[in-house]
Amino acid sequence: MELNAVPDLPEIRPGDDLAGLVAERTDVEAGDVLTVASTVVSKAEGRAADLDDFPAGPRAREIATRLEGIAGEEKDPRFAQAVLEESTELVMEAPFLLTETRFGHVCVNAGIDRSNVPGHDLLLLPKRPAASAEQIRNGLLERGIEDVAVIVTDTCGRPFRHGQRGVALGWDGMPASRDWRGERDRDGRELGVTVQSVVDELASAANLVTGEGAGGTPAVVVRDWNFGNHEGSDALFRDLEGDFVRQALREWRYE
Ligand code: GDP
Ligand code: MN
Ligand code: MN
Ligand code: MN
Repeated sequence: MELNAVPDLPEIRPGDDLAGLVAERTDVEAGDVLTVASTVVSKAEGRAADLDDFPAGPRAREIATRLEGIAGEEKDPRFAQAVLEESTELVMEAPFLLTETRFGHVCVNAGIDRSNVPGHDLLLLPKRPAASAEQIRNGLLERGIEDVAVIVTDTCGRPFRHGQRGVALGWDGMPASRDWRGERDRDGRELGVTVQSVVDELASAANLVTGEGAGGTPAVVVRDWNFGNHEGSDALFRDLEGDFVRQALREWRYE
């Protein structure tokens, strides 16, 4: 497989047509996967915001004061308010905010970014990244470019391991996972549990090319990667009932 950044993309502004900008700069074609960093999807969708857009209520002030005590540095209660408004649940309130976003993704600070947002304080995640991916895919279809899967990505930390990596927030045109259950290993043993999250793996691979800083390469064309002959499924975010780590966190409190 080959991964190539889409060259020369401009600073993205509200209303920009990402599919058009990509199609003008690449030969993206049937069978490719296009990854797009949520940062530019959010910019195109007008999701840049300012701290003043989020006057802090009592809950946000309480959270900010507590985090300030733990961190020993100033925390803006308006930022806590923005996180609250973007979240359906606070999974952890301390020593940082781990929340579930409206579309089911659990991450720190509801994925609100403070880097790469010229002229504004904050960048909120796209409201519905799956719909964003579909829109980009449809934009390619309108230009006669068929059969390109689209993944909207973000850089995200993870429990248990240091370092951040790319993950998929939303996708269209391919299944989220490749199901190996029922297939056999080299010994002929039947695989019982392996469901490979290919959208996350592609997001991570693409993030190697995307980088994190000033590179200006938010979109990557993945070529010659094949889903292969497997069952697929579209589940990525666990439901609370099947998520025992999250259930355990519900019982746990930071002291
Ligand atoms: P995130 O992982 O979605 O939070 O996005 P990052 O902030 O890590 O940025 C990913 C890549 O997109 C980096 O190479 C940035 O330099 C680039 N980037 C961010 N905003 C823009 C933009 O408006 N235009 C272009 N061309 N690149 C951008
Ligand atoms: Mn981000
Ligand atoms: Mn990133
Ligand atoms: Mn293995």
